[in-house]
Amino acid sequence: MNPFEYLRANDHQSAIDAATSPAAPARFLAGGTNLIDLMREGIEQPRLLVDITRLPLTAVEERPGGGLRIGAMVRNSHLASHPIVRERFPLLSYAILNGASAQLRNMATTGGNLMQRTRCYYFYDTASHCNKREPGSGCDALDGFNRTHAILGASSQCIATHPSDMCVALAALDATVNVEGPGGARAVPFADFHRLPGETPDVDTNLLRGELITSVDLPGSSAGLHSVYRKVRDRASYAFALVSVAAAIRIVDGRIAELRLALGGVAHKPWRAATAERALLGSVPTPDAFARAADAELEPAVPQAHNGFKIALARRTIVAVLSELAGLGGGAQ
Ligand code: SF4
Repeated sequence: MNPFEYLRANDHQSAIDAATSPAAPARFLAGGTNLIDLMREGIEQPRLLVDITRLPLTAVEERPGGGLRIGAMVRNSHLASHPIVRERFPLLSYAILNGASAQLRNMATTGGNLMQRTRCYYFYDTASHCNKREPGSGCDALDGFNRTHAILGASSQCIATHPSDMCVALAALDATVNVEGPGGARAVPFADFHRLPGETPDVDTNLLRGELITSVDLPGSSAGLHSVYRKVRDRASYAFALVSVAAAIRIVDGRIAELRLALGGVAHKPWRAATAERALLGSVPTPDAFARAADAELEPAVPQAHNGFKIALARRTIVAVLSELAGLGGGAQ
């Protein structure tokens, strides 16, 4: 591990000031469940760690209109078991409980979950070429073993996927990420928080230098929807998604009045399935309609040598989840 300085911040401003000091590159340290591993492996080499665990960001607060504000330091385990989350936003609870292990969920934070980095094998192997770890060095996943990699939104520079389960639910729930930085506070729609790889796969998010995640808001409009999170993976626990589907629906008078659909394990960011949502809004819910919508969503999918199965898997999982939500069965994939 490379040498680094450590500073414990007592308020937002001192954390932001430290992160923009000449000692940068700096990283905020919260649960550390991903960052410390990355530092041990020499993948992340911050000169300064700014410990934010003392900042008053641990509250889960109700908002006007039925929404919820989740502090950035709220631990994943606490959030998953919070009574308001379980009652009004169960999709978020399901997704969190599908991620990591109980021990990791006890440490990992809301903000840190958004900031975790890909689990691409080549990113973690410093002997491999990786544009995300070392811009311009190449991408060994392109001609390597790419079974877990992206089928949507990838680029010739990077085909990595985003590893989070929680973030797939947040994408479906139309969350907003509140941040503070040298330029003040701003609210970032969840869909704009993470980036597709493009020409700069080393940049995972649209955070500006020194910006600190302070909270995540869930709108009241996302409360109370009938929802399911289904994660398909190689083993039953402590494995990342090959494909996951977060879905929430409201059916009125036999037609789909509201639908939220997001996919995990398929792209560099949580993938909001807007094409499928548009295709299904106002229609009668049937397995055929769900299959046509899934096909439309996956039409731009580009498989790599070893992950073509993800297209069929995503299609079947979308149909199964939506059928279950619509009361049409759906256990099979
Ligand atoms: Fe690196 Fe992305 Fe290629 Fe993986 S897919 S080796 S993270 S550039």
